[in-house]
Amino acid sequence: MSGIGHLAAGFAAKPVEPKIPLWVFLVASETNDILYFLFASIGLEQKAVMTMDFSQGVKYLTPALNPWSHGLFMSIIWSLTAAFIGYLLYKDRRSSLLLGAVVFSHWLLDFLMHSNLPLFFNDSPLVGLGLENSGIGFVFMTIFDLVILAGAIFFCYRTKKRTALPVRP
Ligand SMILES: [Zn+2]
Repeated sequence: MSGIGHLAAGFAAKPVEPKIPLWVFLVASETNDILYFLFASIGLEQKAVMTMDFSQGVKYLTPALNPWSHGLFMSIIWSLTAAFIGYLLYKDRRSSLLLGAVVFSHWLLDFLMHSNLPLFFNDSPLVGLGLENSGIGFVFMTIFDLVILAGAIFFCYRTKKRTALPVRP
């Protein structure tokens, strides 16, 4: 549940650990949303029904609670799982920690955006700054998403070009 700004974490991480393919980082940055679509399709979580506009922000027409994909506790579990898989694949602590951090960045950005992220499961306290809940906050998050995404893509390709230079004859 959020914008394309999440991908920024993936683009920013790529030059830090070039041996991990970019698509792995991009998938990692959207892990929570991928799980949400998966869990919603098997009925474990409710599908969020909402309206979005720049004057009112996001209004949920049905209560959207997604503890399995977007709860803080499960997000930590998903991040640790990603770090563990990363360690099995790359046998490198730094790569695996970075992969876990990219997965967790999703929850942090959603924390700014939403106000309905469960700490644990159903009936646990809901957290989030909820910028989406007002028009001005929603506009801010949309611009913020685009700015961090553009910044991260720039960082990713500029670093690539620079590290590629010495290889040229
Ligand atoms: Zn999300």
